[in-house]
Amino acid sequence: MIIAIDGPASSGKSTTSRLVAKKLRISYLNTGSMYRAVTLYFLNNNYSLEKDNVLEVIKSIDIDVSDSVEKESIILNGIDVTSKLRTLKVSSFVSKISSNNLIREKMVEIQRKISQNKSIVIDGRDIGTVVFPDADYKFFITASIEERAKRRFEELQIENKSVNFEFVMKEIRDRDYLDSTRELSPLKKANNAILIDTTHLTLD
Ligand code: C5P
Repeated sequence: MIIAIDGPASSGKSTTSRLVAKKLRISYLNTGSMYRAVTLYFLNNNYSLEKDNVLEVIKSIDIDVSDSVEKESIILNGIDVTSKLRTLKVSSFVSKISSNNLIREKMVEIQRKISQNKSIVIDGRDIGTVVFPDADYKFFITASIEERAKRRFEELQIENKSVNFEFVMKEIRDRDYLDSTRELSPLKKANNAILIDTTHLTLD
C-alpha cells in the first residue's frame, strides 16, 4: 500500500506522514530530505549545475535513507548528514537543485526502489502526480503562508537558531514559487488527492 502525501513547504506533511506511518506500523520516506542531501553535496563541493557536474554527482552520490518512523537518518556517501539538512542555506538552494531533470530522475528511481514490496507513507511534492500516480491514497496538505511561516519560525526558535520571522516567510514563499512553477514535476495537487487545509487544525 502506498500513501502519497504532497504539499508546500512547512505545511506539516512530514510530521503528519511520520505519525500516520507509526500508527499503521508501516514505513515512511521523506523525499524532501533526499533533495536536501543532494543540495548539501553540491554546496560542500562548490559545484554548479552544469551538466558535467550533475552527471558526475549522480554517478558518485550514494544516498541511504533509513525509513524508521522513530528517527530519520540520511547517510550521504557513508556519512550521517541528517542534522545538516534543514539549515537556511540548504533550504534556499534546494529548489534550484530539485528542478534539474537528471537529479529528479535519479531521486525518483531511488524512491520507487525503496518503496518496492512494502507499505509506505511517502511525502514530497510530486508523489501523487509523478512518482506514484497510482498510489492507493493521496493527500495534499496545505496551510496559509502565515501559519506555515509561524510553525517554521517556532521550530527554528526551539533549535536556538536566531532568525527573523519575515526572512522565514520569504524563504518559504520563494521556495513555494520555485517548486510550483518549475517545468518538471511541479508542486501540484493530484486531481484525485484529498485536500487538507491545516491552517486551523491541530496536528492530531
Ligand atoms: O519537504 P522539504 O521542504 O524538505 O523539501 C525540500 C525541497 O525539496 C522542496 O522545496 C523541493 O524543492 C524539493 N522536493 C521536490 N520533490 C519532492 C520533495 C522535495 O522537488 N518530492
